[in-house]
Amino acid sequence: MAERQSADVFWAKPKTVEQIIKLVKVANEFGLNIRPVGHKHSWSPLYADNGDIGLDLTLLVGSRFTLDKERMLASSLGSALLSEFINFTRENGVTIPSAPSVPDATLQGVIGTAAQGGFIKDGPTAIYVNAIDLVDGQGNVRHFNEDDDKDVIAACKVHLGMSGIIYNTTVKVVPDTTFKFTKFNVRVQDLMFNPENIKDLVMNNDGLYLLYNAFNGATDEEVNARDGDELHRPPDSWTPLNDLLQVWIYNQENGTTIHDIGEEFPETWTLNDNTEYEATSDYRTLSETIFFPAAFLDSVHLRRNTGWIGTESEDFSDSQRTIKNFFQVIEESLKKYGMTYESYYGLFKWITHQDDCVLCHTKVAGSFKTVIDYEWVLSTATGLLSDNAVPQWAKIYDSIPGIYNHIRNVYGSSFREFITIRNKKSLDPSNIFMNSMLKTLFQDFLEEEGAAKSEL
Ligand SMILES: Cc1cc2nc3c(=O)[nH]c(=O)nc-3n(C[C@H](O)[C@H](O)[C@H](O)COP(=O)(O)OP(=O)(O)OC[C@H]3O[C@@H](n4cnc5c(N)ncnc54)[C@H](O)[C@@H]3O)c2cc1C
Repeated sequence: MAERQSADVFWAKPKTVEQIIKLVKVANEFGLNIRPVGHKHSWSPLYADNGDIGLDLTLLVGSRFTLDKERMLASSLGSALLSEFINFTRENGVTIPSAPSVPDATLQGVIGTAAQGGFIKDGPTAIYVNAIDLVDGQGNVRHFNEDDDKDVIAACKVHLGMSGIIYNTTVKVVPDTTFKFTKFNVRVQDLMFNPENIKDLVMNNDGLYLLYNAFNGATDEEVNARDGDELHRPPDSWTPLNDLLQVWIYNQENGTTIHDIGEEFPETWTLNDNTEYEATSDYRTLSETIFFPAAFLDSVHLRRNTGWIGTESEDFSDSQRTIKNFFQVIEESLKKYGMTYESYYGLFKWITHQDDCVLCHTKVAGSFKTVIDYEWVLSTATGLLSDNAVPQWAKIYDSIPGIYNHIRNVYGSSFREFITIRNKKSLDPSNIFMNSMLKTLFQDFLEEEGAAKSEL
C-alpha cells in the first residue's frame, strides 16, 4: 500500500550563485545533505530527508535564456520553466524536438530524471544536453561541456540531483519546422493486439502517443451495472479490449500542404491491416506538439501512476507480452477492486536508446535499440513481470517490494560508471547531494569506489 510521505526540511531559495556556494559550504560544515529541486513534479522519493536542506532555485536571478544560433545551442537558467524555455526557443525559430508534457517542470528536472516525450527516434530529453554549469559538493563553480568533458556530460545527463546544484543547462536545438498532427480513435483489440499494426505506426511516424482511458468503450448496460455495484466494479461482460484508444501522431510536413497552421481538417488514417479510421489533422510547429493536453484531462489523478520502460524487439513481440499483461492487470484489478476514481488513465510511447547517457532508462533496450514506455495506475505487476522493465525515475515506485534490488540489477555496471565519473571529477566527495533512497540504490557502488560506510 502506498502511504503519505513527508519530511521536515530546511527550505532554501537562493537568489544568486554566490548564495548557493555559501549554502553548500554551510551544509558541509554542519554535516547536512542538500537535495536540489526543480518544480517538484517528480513523484518518487528524490527529495530531501528529514532535517536536511531542500534547495529550490525558483528565485535564482540571472540571464534566463541564451541562444547560439550558429551552433544551435540554447540554455535555460534553473529558475525558468520548461514552457518558458520552449516559448523562448520558438520565438527564435528553434526548439528541442521532444520533451515530457509538463509545461511547468524545469529543464534541469526533466533532464535529471530522464523524462521523455513521444518523438520515436529520440530518447529522453537528456540526450540533448551539451553543457552544464553547477556548484559542486565543495562549493566550487564548475562548467562542463561535451567537447571537453564527454564523460561528465554522459554521466550528468540523467543526474538525479547527485552531481551538483545545476544552475544553467545548455541543450542542442533543431529548427522549429512544421509538423502534421493527427488524431483518431481505435479499439484496443484492433491496434494493441496486432503487432504489425503497432510496428507500422511506430516505425513510420516521427512521434506517437497512445492514450488509454479505461471503460470508455463500455455499453450503457455495463455502465449501469458498474454504477449500481457498491464497489463500482465493471460487470463480467466488460473487457478493456473494447475500449477506445486515442492515437496521436505527428510527422514532419513534406512541403505539399494546402492547409494553414492551426486549421483542422478531416482525413482517413489507414492501419497496416488496411482498416480505415476517420481522423482529424492540423499543422503545427514542432514545438507545439510537445505539451499535449492529455495529462490535463478532467479527473486524471496522475500521482497514482507508475511509468515503466520495457524492451521492444524487431518483430514487436516484446511489447505484445507487456501489452497483454497490462490489459490483463487492468481487467482483473478493476473487476476485483472496482473503479473508485473517475478516470483510469494509461499511456504508451516508443522511444529509441541513444548512447552516451549513463543513467538513461532506455538502456534496457536490446539490439533493436527501441523501448516501450508505458504508464498506468496499476502497472506494478505489469512492470515487474516484463523482462528488464525499469520504472521511470520520476514516478512512484518505492512501495513495490524488491524494487531497489530490481533496479540495481538492471542498471548494474551503469551505476558503477556513474559513481566512478562523479568521484573522478570530485563532483560530490562527501556525498552531500544524497538522500536515503539514493543511498539505498547506490550504496554498494559508492563503497566499491572508496566511500566509507560512515560517510553514507
Ligand atoms: C502532469 C504530469 C505529466 C508528466 N508527464 C511526463 C511525461 O510525459 N514523460 C515523462 O517522462 N515524465 C512525465 N512526468 C514526470 C515529469 O516529467 C518529471 O517529474 C519532471 O520532469 C521533473 O521536473 P521538475 O522540474 O519538477 O523536477 P523535480 O521533480 O523537482 O526534480 C527532479 C530531479 O531533478 C533534480 N533536480 C531538479 N533541479 C535540479 C537542479 N537545478 N540541479 C540539480 N538537480 C536538480 C532533483 O534533485 C530530482 O532528483 C509528468 C509529471 C506530471 C506532474
